[in-house]
Amino acid sequence: MELPFAEPYKIKMVEPIRRTTREERQQWIKDAGFNLFNLRSEQVYIDLLTDSGTGAMSDRQWSEIMLGDESYAGSASYYKLKSAVKEIFGFDHFLPTHQGRGAENVLFSVLVKPGDLVPGNSHFDTTKGHIEFRQATAIDCTIDEAFDCTANHPFKGNVDLEKLDKILKINPKERIPFIIVTLTCNSSGGQPVSLENLKGVSALARKYGIPLIYDSARFAENAYFIKSREKGQANKTIREIVAEMFSYADGMTMSSKKDGIVNIGGLIGMRSVELYQQASVYNIMFEGFVTYGGQAGRDMAALARGLYEATEFDYLESRVKQVAYLGQKLTDYGIQVQQPYGGHAIFIDANKFLPHIPKEEFRAQTLAVELYIEGGVRGVEIGAIMADRDPVTRENRFPALELVRLAIPRRVYTFNHMDYIAASLANVFHRREEIIKGFAIEYEAPILRHFTVKLKRAE
Ligand SMILES: *Cc1c(COP(=O)(O)O)cnc(C)c1O
Repeated sequence: MELPFAEPYKIKMVEPIRRTTREERQQWIKDAGFNLFNLRSEQVYIDLLTDSGTGAMSDRQWSEIMLGDESYAGSASYYKLKSAVKEIFGFDHFLPTHQGRGAENVLFSVLVKPGDLVPGNSHFDTTKGHIEFRQATAIDCTIDEAFDCTANHPFKGNVDLEKLDKILKINPKERIPFIIVTLTCNSSGGQPVSLENLKGVSALARKYGIPLIYDSARFAENAYFIKSREKGQANKTIREIVAEMFSYADGMTMSSKKDGIVNIGGLIGMRSVELYQQASVYNIMFEGFVTYGGQAGRDMAALARGLYEATEFDYLESRVKQVAYLGQKLTDYGIQVQQPYGGHAIFIDANKFLPHIPKEEFRAQTLAVELYIEGGVRGVEIGAIMADRDPVTRENRFPALELVRLAIPRRVYTFNHMDYIAASLANVFHRREEIIKGFAIEYEAPILRHFTVKLKRAE
């Protein structure tokens, strides 16, 4: 018989988690203004809010924590990370930052000015926030298939090269500081970008003389999908694929809280020494000196190790297959989830789940709250609340997709947890007709409102 697949690690330390009662959860979510970000973690049984900074470090990473060099300047841990960045991504210049948005803030401070356009594939919310904060505009050039949950395209993160070409053709070069490609594409469902597409974007970037930057939070999962789905790539190692992916880019930002498998940290990688020098000024101002950038030495050392572990095939296979296992369970229960299953998360189509709730009452948020009440499982809305208001008209934006994201932390939960999550959702699915009210906004911040929004039950 063919041997089944199992995790390439065993458990050395455990952290207790506690089940709670439905009555407790109903009270807690009400007290939290029906915003899952406002819950205490003790009020959550299985936490799928994010895969960001929630992964389990390995024994090797923990030993790097002990070896961390806490020198302000020139720390040995910095040099470990610098050499990992060079070896894995091929960038000669790099700056550590406190997390991904710190990297965006530093790099965009150099490159983005008011009136600029930044084309890309469904920019991540902090990326878009940092662009709009500078009175510039993010232009989404993702392929149309990405917005059809049921279309089974292997690379739904791909950039539509015609859309991109048009933007580059009709706008003056001075208005486009760079193109940003997100790997994998988070906002449109953890969907990968193919090597061929990266090559195509890079060719356009070069044709118009515009730099190409990767938002690289889940670069390793992207490489796994290239290996498993793209023609001619199956026999390459993950590291070879990563090296080729990044050979087409001029720079990168990264939240190392994802495929760095650490709890905090970020980085910027660059080819140009001039850009490195300009970015260093902002790094020192916002993040810290160029050899630590808001990270402790031990954090940089653990990250260096994490980058190597995240680019091992066995780890990536177990990771992606656990996510797919959950996706398949939900599909078997008749629940519509985004196809194909994403790299770090399963995205439930709330438009299909709760079509009878008006979209103005935030379908995906309604579903996320019901899932929490049902099983103590915390997911997150990726829909109209996160899409925020148009910066000019201040009207609510209603995106094509209303999704609940169930992000799976790396190396944290077991397949039993996946069964529990699926059963909780199946219960909500069975009583979906009884859910007749969504939510209205009681308080919202002017930017990135989903983190702090307060809601009340719709009238
Ligand atoms: C998480 C993430 C960011 C922001 O990184 P933080 O570490 O949360 O600041 C940027 N882009 C993508 C694609 C991300 O997933």
